[in-house]
Amino acid sequence: MSQLADNLARIRTRIADATARSGRTAESVTLVAVTKSASVEQARELALAGCMDLGEGRPQELWSKAAALSDLPIRWHLIGHLQRNKVERTLPLVSIIHSVDSLRLLRAIDAAAESLGRTMPVLLEVNISGDAAKHGFSPAEMPERLAEISECKRVHIRGLMAMAGLDGDADRARTDFRNLRQLRDRLRGMPGGACLSELSMGMSGDFEAAVEEGATIVRIGSALFEAIEP
Ligand SMILES: *Cc1c(COP(=O)(O)O)cnc(C)c1O
Repeated sequence: MSQLADNLARIRTRIADATARSGRTAESVTLVAVTKSASVEQARELALAGCMDLGEGRPQELWSKAAALSDLPIRWHLIGHLQRNKVERTLPLVSIIHSVDSLRLLRAIDAAAESLGRTMPVLLEVNISGDAAKHGFSPAEMPERLAEISECKRVHIRGLMAMAGLDGDADRARTDFRNLRQLRDRLRGMPGGACLSELSMGMSGDFEAAVEEGATIVRIGSALFEAIEP
């Protein structure tokens, strides 16, 4: 087995173990392999190894990898900031956008989806840790925003996405994940919140804690490429 396929198998096992500890099935978590520091060949190898969900942080990088790998039925996830002037070109290529962080962006996605004649699944990015440097809605504004969002007919809000705090402490990360799940649970009972089934949280350094706290999608990059020469 190649190092990459071996790393992928190990991560899948660790996800399965974490789901078992929290009484869930391994299938309840989707692994998104983040290929932002990987080559097109490595992204292809991941897909051929059965990992069909790939994530990119920058729209331009997603465009070029999606074009190079268009022969494979990859589901592309945009996980980084999307500027409104890149919406039209990005929409036809992605199966979900994790990083919707403003109403203006949401309205631009809605309009582009309308002209493409499709619906667009998205997640709302929440700045759960309150770091000033991070994108995302504040937890406090979420009820009001959700009510406003219901006017966007072509956008399907599937859940919430967040990153743990930048200070890198494991307990703090777990608290952030728990807070995101509890926010989601509260929002589900509010207008426009019933559709929030997904929780995209957990990266290479903290995905097991995220799964234990209820993640349905984990976004993993560097751990997949450990011990691989660039
Ligand atoms: C880079 C990135 C990841 C993956 O991070 P790793 O620590 O390499 O696993 C996940 N989510 C987002 C939003 C990222 O930008």
